[in-house]
Amino acid sequence: MAKKSGWSGSVSEALRWRPGGLVQDIDTSGKPGFDGDKAAGEALLAERGERLSQLQELLYANGRAGDHRSVLLVLQGMDTAGKGGIVRHVIGMVDPQGVKTASFGKPTEEELAHDFLWRIHQQTPKGGQIGVFDRSHYEDVLVVRVHDLVPQSVWEPRYGIINSFEEDLAASGVTVVKAAMFVSLDEQKKRLQERLDRPDKYWKYNPADIDERGYWPKYQEAYQAMLDRTSVDGAPWHVIPADRKWFSRLAITELLIEALEGLGLDWPPADFDVEHEKARLADA
Ligand code: AMP
Ligand code: MG
Repeated sequence: MAKKSGWSGSVSEALRWRPGGLVQDIDTSGKPGFDGDKAAGEALLAERGERLSQLQELLYANGRAGDHRSVLLVLQGMDTAGKGGIVRHVIGMVDPQGVKTASFGKPTEEELAHDFLWRIHQQTPKGGQIGVFDRSHYEDVLVVRVHDLVPQSVWEPRYGIINSFEEDLAASGVTVVKAAMFVSLDEQKKRLQERLDRPDKYWKYNPADIDERGYWPKYQEAYQAMLDRTSVDGAPWHVIPADRKWFSRLAITELLIEALEGLGLDWPPADFDVEHEKARLADA
C-alpha cells in the first residue's frame, strides 16, 4: 500500500455525501480527513500524481489487452469551483493518450433534438481509459431545473433515469467517481474578480456568471436534490470543499487512486513466448 500521509483513512469515506446532510452546511473551506497544511498538501499531490500516473498506465495496458473496464470522473460545481483546474492539474499528471475528457456546455440544436443522455453516451470512456466529464448529465437537473428550461414533469424523472444510466455504466465496467465541488459565494466573487483583473484569465470570464450568482439559493436547492436523489451505493457523490484549490486537487487525485486501486489490476501477461523472443533478440 503506497504512502498516504496526511489522510486519516479512506478519502472516499471522508468525503462521501451523508444522507440527511444539508448543502448549506457544507464547509467549503474544510479539508475533511486531511490533517496537513497547504505545503504538505502540495508536496503530497506531486507524490500521489506519480501513483496516479502508474495506475493509469496499468489501466491502459489492461485495456490494450482487452479488459473492458474504465473509470469515469464526473465533475460538477458552480462557475469558478475549479473543474477546469482539476482537468489541468490532476488529469494533467497522467498520459493524455489514455484520457478522454469531455466538457458539456449549453446543448446545441442537434443535442436538444435528442434525449438529454444522447451527448453523454457518446463521451463515455472505452476500456482502459479514464474519462472525465467537466459538467455532465447532472446539468440537466441543475441549470435546467434552476432556470425552468423544461417543465418539472420533464426534469423530475431525470433523477431516476440518471440512476439507471449509471447502473448500466457500472454493469458495463465503468467505475463512476462523482465529485461535487463547492465554493462559497465569497470565494467565487474573489475568483471572478481575478478573472476581470488578469488578462490571462479573461478567457474564463463570462458576464452571465454574475447573473447566476443571483440564483445561488436555487442552485443550492438543486444541488441538494441531486445529492439526495442520486448518491446511491454503486455511485455515491463525494463533496469536495473547493475554496482551497490545493485541497480539492489532492482530494480528487486520491479518489481516483482509490477507484483505480479498487480494480485490483496487474500487468497483463505477455501474449508471446518471452523466452523465445529473448533468444531471437539475442541472435538478431
Ligand atoms: P462553462 O463550463 O463555464 O464553459 O459553462 C458552460 C455553461 O453551459 C454553463 O453555464 C452550464 O450551466 C451550461 N450548460 C451545461 N449543460 C447544460 C444543459 N444541459 N442545459 C443548459 N445549459 C447547460
Ligand atoms: Mg464558466
